[in-house]
Amino acid sequence: CGVFGVIGVTDAANFVALGLHALQHRGQEAGGIVTHNHGTGFHSARRFGYVRDNFTSAKLMETLPGDLGIGHVRYSTAGSKGRTEIRDVQPFFGEFSMGGAAIAHNGNITNAEALRRELIDRGSIFQSGSDSECIIHLMARSLQRDIPERMKDALRRVEGAFSVVAMTRTKLIGVRDPLGVRPLVLGRIGDGWVLSSETCALDIIGAEFVREIEPGEMVVISPEKGVTSHRPFESRQSRFCIFEHVYFSRPDSILGGRSVYETRRQIGVELARENPVDADLVCPVPDSGTPAAIGFSQESGIPYAMGIIRNQYMGRTFIEPSEQIRNMGVRLKLNVNRALIAGKRVILVDDSVVRGTTSRKIKEMILDAGAKEVHFRIASPPTAWPCFYGVDTPKREKLLAATMSEEEMREHLAVDSLKFISLDGLYRAVGQGEGRDSNCPKYCDACFSGEYPVEPFDMIERGFKL
Ligand code: 5GP
Ligand code: SF4
Ligand code: MG
Repeated sequence: CGVFGVIGVTDAANFVALGLHALQHRGQEAGGIVTHNHGTGFHSARRFGYVRDNFTSAKLMETLPGDLGIGHVRYSTAGSKGRTEIRDVQPFFGEFSMGGAAIAHNGNITNAEALRRELIDRGSIFQSGSDSECIIHLMARSLQRDIPERMKDALRRVEGAFSVVAMTRTKLIGVRDPLGVRPLVLGRIGDGWVLSSETCALDIIGAEFVREIEPGEMVVISPEKGVTSHRPFESRQSRFCIFEHVYFSRPDSILGGRSVYETRRQIGVELARENPVDADLVCPVPDSGTPAAIGFSQESGIPYAMGIIRNQYMGRTFIEPSEQIRNMGVRLKLNVNRALIAGKRVILVDDSVVRGTTSRKIKEMILDAGAKEVHFRIASPPTAWPCFYGVDTPKREKLLAATMSEEEMREHLAVDSLKFISLDGLYRAVGQGEGRDSNCPKYCDACFSGEYPVEPFDMIERGFKL
């Protein structure tokens, strides 16, 4: 998901809508905005679908007045069961003795089911099926006298990954979990302040990047007092999601001081060094494989070409939650550039192999177009484990790499060769020259290594085996 918030600007909702539009790649199912206006109080709107189809009409935006607002774009992940209902769409709102508060959460709470049971036993009335709603109920039970303190109480009970943007009547609040699994950045716009999942959403509104919110940090922002920093959690070695660098974040964002584009290009360079192959063309599977394909071509000297053309009007296939839509998605979204491919030995560069369904269809399309050989090069190690921290991966059984060796996957996809970047190569590409320090890894890489930095408590309860 994507989260965004702004304080100290006129018509905050317009800024939030633009910010969410820039974060749309982080979730396409639904979006919501809450604002606060001195005089008329809190206002909110939650809608299914794209930001641009909802939060652009003057009629809707007029219902969201105020100089303070937050928003959320959603896609459902491991914790969620079945179809999203509008009541699952964030931000969530709670009314407390000291006033209202709204929260928007990116990540996944790994002890949400246990918390939910406990809260329901003690009288909480849940409105949604979302793990994030626990935070509001935990805040309601806290005895602290202001909302930021109640949020600290609540978040100290929560485990897993969370980047949270919240608001009261007068304050904007941002928090990252102690491991800092999901991103969150601070920006400045005129006399106002911005919080955003990624820097690309600062750019769209002309805000200046100030810094990242640190793992385990809470910032409380008001126009009068500016930004105050709090440390509600015990400090730990941070474990930022390495997959944000590979796929999830936008290539024009800056993560941990590194350009995402440059990291992905470097992944392609590493990939070409680790797994060279003689061929005529390097083609990306657009758009997620593009920067790595550029790096692969530069390092190998094999010409880069757009062998697959993407229809710009389709979203990312994997974000659609149903299997059926995902299966249709490939052809609706991608087409082979026949004139270029016929008779050629083609290296296809993609970000990941998950179920293998996309990769298989792409390979068929390329062979139909007359390619002589197809070599897959993948910009991440084999995805053998599900993510429980906010990225949608299927159950372990559905992951190709969970049950097959590299050679078995190659046979299954029926390609001439299939190679993945090594975990060390990936760490080198994100700036860890020595590769992965297995005693103290600097990133979360659980979907590749199976080493979960936070126990996936709810999933283990449901029968998941580590
Ligand atoms: P596959 O061949 O595994 O079906 O799909 C791999 C391609 O689709 C990659 O380009 C990746 O971007 C995307 N993809 C499809 N499904 C998923 C998924 O569930 N999670 C992630 N992370 N990527 C997926
Ligand atoms: Fe990121 Fe993978 Fe860790 Fe999930 S399991 S947070 S996708 S690195
Ligand atoms: Mg892709």
